[in-house]
Amino acid sequence: MKKQMIHTGFLLVVLFNIFISLTQCSDSFLHTSIHRQREHKTVLLTGAAGFIGSNFLQYMFDKYPNYTFDVLDLLTYAGSLENIPDYIRKSNRFNFFYGSVTNPDIVDLVMSRADYVVHFAAESHVCRSIFDDLAFFDTDVMGTRVMMRSLVKHASTIQRYIHISTSEVCGTAETQPMDEEHPINPRSPYAAAKAGADRLVYSYWCTYDIPALIIRPFNNYGPQQHLEKMLPRFITAAMKGEPLTVHGTGEQSRDWLHTLDLARALDKALHLEDFSKIKNQILHIGSGIATSVVTIAKKILEHFDLPEDYLQFTPDRPGQVACHISSTEKARKLLDWQTEISLEEGIKDVITWYENNRARWQRMEGMKHIPVQTSHGTITLQ
Ligand code: NAD
Repeated sequence: MKKQMIHTGFLLVVLFNIFISLTQCSDSFLHTSIHRQREHKTVLLTGAAGFIGSNFLQYMFDKYPNYTFDVLDLLTYAGSLENIPDYIRKSNRFNFFYGSVTNPDIVDLVMSRADYVVHFAAESHVCRSIFDDLAFFDTDVMGTRVMMRSLVKHASTIQRYIHISTSEVCGTAETQPMDEEHPINPRSPYAAAKAGADRLVYSYWCTYDIPALIIRPFNNYGPQQHLEKMLPRFITAAMKGEPLTVHGTGEQSRDWLHTLDLARALDKALHLEDFSKIKNQILHIGSGIATSVVTIAKKILEHFDLPEDYLQFTPDRPGQVACHISSTEKARKLLDWQTEISLEEGIKDVITWYENNRARWQRMEGMKHIPVQTSHGTITLQ
């Protein structure tokens, strides 16, 4: 009897141990798989051969060694694989898909692989939209529609989708600073196309349960920006000892945001633990400081030790925006984000990039001037 009890006791201990190790094993399996889920993500970036997207790609690639990055880009005049450093292009964590966001089959393919999506792809230059706006509506509006249709299809696997809009959708500041409730009054065909896309995304989250949010960055500057944009034009003109051409009086002011500061905000939006706080929200991303165009031009002249008579004033751009200044409240509250790079520091950083990459921007020289017909005749925008 005693022997039988010892035997049963022994059996119970063995069974107990097997039970414990099984739970530990499934626990650790569960833990590993959750960990892996947390660690490995496929991030789809559209338009990341362009200025902002390529800066964001580099920031994220370096920060998240377990993430894979898929880039969908049509490589228009504004996109270049040169914007993506060699070590990224050669990595097995990087896949490039050549194609348009207006192509539903290609978009479906890349969206089916993604955990996170940031939709940057767009025609982005205001002056060019005054010259010919067709591609703007095709890419910015119809492309966003294709992305939205696909997001509805893949909403169970895509965890977060960020639509990159722009402060330009608001037009000139009616209230200062401009918060997320500011009226939408686009003043150029570019801004109108972006406003269409912005409202399209909004309508999709009202209609379908999609894990999307809208980010409206203010004026970005940073390395690798196309020469057609203001800051690269000013910097490279000063480097060559040529006049800096300023539209109108130059008193129009903008809220200048370094691409690295934007990258940090987007990173926070992708990783905020409680997604419900920002799901289906609009966030303005800017510094909260407005600086006029002519002030920037003077800062650059000062850096290159050039006198103010290097400023050359041209007719103003039609549909000009007088003032842009971002409210920083919502982004600070929801993302715990604010800018870290001052305009002075940022401009120096960008000047260094243009000094070190002459061959890259010299190839774009021919694209700086855009002649357009206006009611006052032909003017050249740049
Ligand atoms: P960019 O013009 O430098 O780059 C755009 C990229 O999109 C290019 O690589 C281009 O090849 C690609 N592209 C264009 N059409 C495409 C298509 N049909 N399919 C796939 N790819 C296509 O633009 P950016 O300055 O980097 O701006 C990126 C985004 O940020 C845009 O949505 C823009 O509206 C927005 N934004 C820009 C600023 C700014 O100051 N630059 C400010 C606010 C918002």
